[in-house]
Amino acid sequence: MSQNADSNSFPAGRPVVFRNATVLTIDPSTGIVENGDVLVVNDRIAAVGQHLSAPDNVVEIDASGGILMPGMVDTHRHMWQTALRGFGADWTLTNYFQFYYLNWGKIFRPEDIYAGNLLSAIEAVDAGVTTTVDWSHGLQTVEYADAAVDALEAVPGRFVLAYGNLLGAPWQWTKAPEFADFIRRRIDGHGDRLGMQLAFDVTGDPAFPEKAAFEVAREYNLPVTTHAGVWGATNDNGIRLMYEHGFMTPSTIYVHAATLSQDSYQRIAATGGHASVSSESEQNAGQGYPPTWQLRRHNIPVSLSMDTSVWWSADLFSAMRSTLSADRAREHREAHRRNETVMLSHLRAEQVVTWATLGGASALGMDKLIGSITPGKKADLVLIKNDQSPVMFPLLHPYGHVVFQAGRGDVHTVMVDGKVVKHNHRLLGIDLNAARQAVAKTVEYARSRMGEQAWNESMNPAKAVVELIDNPYTYTKKEQAAQQGSAEASQD
Ligand SMILES: [Zn+2]
Repeated sequence: MSQNADSNSFPAGRPVVFRNATVLTIDPSTGIVENGDVLVVNDRIAAVGQHLSAPDNVVEIDASGGILMPGMVDTHRHMWQTALRGFGADWTLTNYFQFYYLNWGKIFRPEDIYAGNLLSAIEAVDAGVTTTVDWSHGLQTVEYADAAVDALEAVPGRFVLAYGNLLGAPWQWTKAPEFADFIRRRIDGHGDRLGMQLAFDVTGDPAFPEKAAFEVAREYNLPVTTHAGVWGATNDNGIRLMYEHGFMTPSTIYVHAATLSQDSYQRIAATGGHASVSSESEQNAGQGYPPTWQLRRHNIPVSLSMDTSVWWSADLFSAMRSTLSADRAREHREAHRRNETVMLSHLRAEQVVTWATLGGASALGMDKLIGSITPGKKADLVLIKNDQSPVMFPLLHPYGHVVFQAGRGDVHTVMVDGKVVKHNHRLLGIDLNAARQAVAKTVEYARSRMGEQAWNESMNPAKAVVELIDNPYTYTKKEQAAQQGSAEASQD
């Protein structure tokens, strides 16, 4: 391919072959293929191997020096919040709840949901996240949900709308006739690029009001995704109620699952559910310690997620790296408590790359369709290649390279459903300017609606005060004077 590819470089209907990559198939029967080719015909992976023969009209992508892997899958992202990217960088979970749940969630309009989703969807595809669960809990009415789906349909990625409303009661909004109508209009029969889940949290209220929402999920055959084991918000009571009423199923996704008892983890494992671990989120916001070190022992399958760009990045390189780091940090800490040294790491780079791809696909019940480079599966592929970067060689440990060396800037080519949507580091046929303008309007609106003072105070919460502890080795006059706040000390 030429350097200046555009959407016309990959005409519809022409097969595409990636040549000479280090192919991480994430298919246990194939593993890594060195100097590998992957042939895509229509929307499917047709063949994987070395020196593949290809049809005469094939379009070739030179993948030499690069790593070709399945598209990544994010199982929990509040896409609408991308409209305020980075706003909450210094938040705690309490700041977040105050901002969205108590004060400002209600001011967002359907066009703001559209703006955030549009930018987030483009960002996902650009970073090689070919499937994203839009944990969309800002849907105050069905009009908002229409806006959310309009944005997802405007971007050539694969999405699952996890329908939610943080300002409403799930046992009410799931019962509305317009909700059933929405499913018929926007989801049913729309193919495998747009799925749906129900997104709501279980408070642990002994009356279990969420029962009615679970029944709606069952009626429409929709998986439920729920923030579970979030310190101070959701706990073992929610899991117990779900279990006792028979609503824990293999399609249920437990987001964070960071502060649960052994009993709750065992209920999840026994009913076949999946976890969605957002390590960067758990470490910053305070839902609990990233739980992979616990989930491993309970044999609970893991998928990865980024949660929200109001705080964090939205690329799964960060998710893989922070997950691996958090898991190993915990292992060392637990061992040091016993006065022991960790001799072998449990969690390997290969495992987190698998969680970021096949793990996500399995959590969504889509592992027959996507998640590995296997002939017959849909062609959702990411080529990590950057000839201008000093980081792309030597390429010795490909899984480690993905996790600790590469970043989103190294995503060279992205294919979704057999269609090249990014090539040579440029998005193809995607209108980033439309997202830029829509988001600018939302920022302008939210800022003026909140007022300058609330805007600034929300973005910059008061700092916690550092309490210095006494230091017996403080003995110089200068240090003593500095502690007493003497101005003369600095003039020594
Ligand atoms: Zn979340």
